[in-house]
Amino acid sequence: MNQNPKKTSLLRSRKLYERACRALPGGVNSPVRAFAAVGGQPIFVESGQGSIVFDIDGNRYLDYLGSWGPLILGHAHRRVVEAVRQAATRGLSFGTCHATEVELAEAIVRNMPHLQQVRLVNSGTEAAMAAIRLARAATGRSRIVKFKGCYHGHADSFLVEAGSGALTFGAPSSPGVATAVAADTLLAEYNDLASAEACFRTDGQAVACVIVEPVAGNMGVVPPAPGFLAGLRALCDRHGALLVFDEVITGFRVAQGGAAELFGVRPDLTVLGKIIGGGLPVGAFGGSRELMRELAPLGPVYQAGTLSGNPLACAAGLATLRELEKAPPYPRLAELSKRLAEGLRAALVAAGLPGCCNRTGSMLTLFFNPRQVRSLREARNADCEQFAAFHRAMLKSGYYLPPAQFESWFVSTAHTQKDIERTVDMAADILRNLNLG
Ligand SMILES: *Cc1c(COP(=O)(O)O)cnc(C)c1O
Repeated sequence: MNQNPKKTSLLRSRKLYERACRALPGGVNSPVRAFAAVGGQPIFVESGQGSIVFDIDGNRYLDYLGSWGPLILGHAHRRVVEAVRQAATRGLSFGTCHATEVELAEAIVRNMPHLQQVRLVNSGTEAAMAAIRLARAATGRSRIVKFKGCYHGHADSFLVEAGSGALTFGAPSSPGVATAVAADTLLAEYNDLASAEACFRTDGQAVACVIVEPVAGNMGVVPPAPGFLAGLRALCDRHGALLVFDEVITGFRVAQGGAAELFGVRPDLTVLGKIIGGGLPVGAFGGSRELMRELAPLGPVYQAGTLSGNPLACAAGLATLRELEKAPPYPRLAELSKRLAEGLRAALVAAGLPGCCNRTGSMLTLFFNPRQVRSLREARNADCEQFAAFHRAMLKSGYYLPPAQFESWFVSTAHTQKDIERTVDMAADILRNLNLG
């Protein structure tokens, strides 16, 4: 079962991390990568293939990080790599119009009937930032409502009680965000409609939009309670505010049409990223033609990007979406992920450890300690020390999990039934030992 029968050496990763720490703050380019939440040091990856990654010391891991969500087809998918290779031979960037960006935009809107147009950008952060600018301009209002523990990238307006690394590092609100900017961000509790209603009570006419991760993925996976998303839709309609779904994770992950399709609720604006770039930097935001025509050059709302619609990034995204359209993997992904989640739950019980496993489609989180997690408050009851011990033991045994409790694991089309079974077996062994230790 052990993926590393020879004694695991991490010598090369250790050495490279020392160098990294001299040239990069914390040795990383994004904070959760530093492994601070799980102890130890980050592992440097040499290559990935399908569901497997190899580190620079030659160790092999079954990967559930999936680059934090983009890799729904697994690592180095043949068709995606070929599309990028071919695009690269034609030129890396033109700064002007080309066919692939049109085709990617068409592929997105064809799968998401609530979008008529999208604007392509370079990251989820950029997309969310521009989407609220558009919402503010379209409504002539300044405030936004966001949910504590939801993450919408690192633009100033969103770094107020944010999720993901901000939550993991215990600094959900960042210094450097001007108080004047933060003051326009009103906070509500995820899965608590009354708390969202309360944000409209004092000055509902000032709220431009409600932005939400329709399935929370950055406090660990927390699915929406029945009626929560529909309730937000009705609330926004009542007050003339826009509903913005941040589907950076869920878009093309929980269904081709994202969470909007899965839960049957139509947002006004949608924020995308991750899968639509197939592993290269792409983000997008979109909505009705009427809203999108507010953007420059048609309208007055400014938004631009030197590398936006980059041909390589669009080629990777387009190849990925074409694979998903050709053979929609969602039933099989859900089946595999369900087996994984149920196996992990059973392993917790067998080990006599309290906890739970939340899942929507192929995104899931194993929470240590709380018996159910339907809110940020319950997520915060998780025992991060226990998660860290579990993570270290899994890593040593050849299983690469996201290195923090408040993150989603991702199953890809490259994972096999056998991959899932051996993950469950290994987790069961490790959890039993965790409780003894
Ligand atoms: C990852 C993520 C973002 C930010 O995307 P980046 O490409 O990292 O800037 C925004 N929203 C959600 C829900 C995410 O998971």
